[in-house]
Amino acid sequence: MKYSRQRELILNEVIDSKGHPTADEVYDDLKKTNPSLSLGTVYRNLTQLGKNGMLKKVNIPGDPVRFEANLTDHNHFICENCKKIIDINKDTVKFSEKLLAGQGFKVKSSHVILTGICKECQK
Ligand SMILES: [Zn+2]
Ligand SMILES: [Zn+2]
Repeated sequence: MKYSRQRELILNEVIDSKGHPTADEVYDDLKKTNPSLSLGTVYRNLTQLGKNGMLKKVNIPGDPVRFEANLTDHNHFICENCKKIIDINKDTVKFSEKLLAGQGFKVKSSHVILTGICKECQK
């Protein structure tokens, strides 16, 4: 398999997942249809795609690095029950930034992780 073709395959897998898969998850899914693919290749390509700005790296403490195709500036909500990671609007934490500005801090970037129970799990 050609290098560029592999990379496209990996990129599309993350886009199609519409979520935040780890390298292992991407590999597990792709190897079903591409048995020659190795985990190392998936890792390398994901890292490269992250560097190129095609994917975004998601660092969640205590979790392996995840990747996502949503390149907009946003925050995350993690459901304690189903462990789903949900994208939430940046505006939800704008208030904190304003508050900090009032205290003399200049916030340049932020990534807030909120945890709780998602809509589905509350049903
Ligand atoms: Zn849930
Ligand atoms: Zn996200």
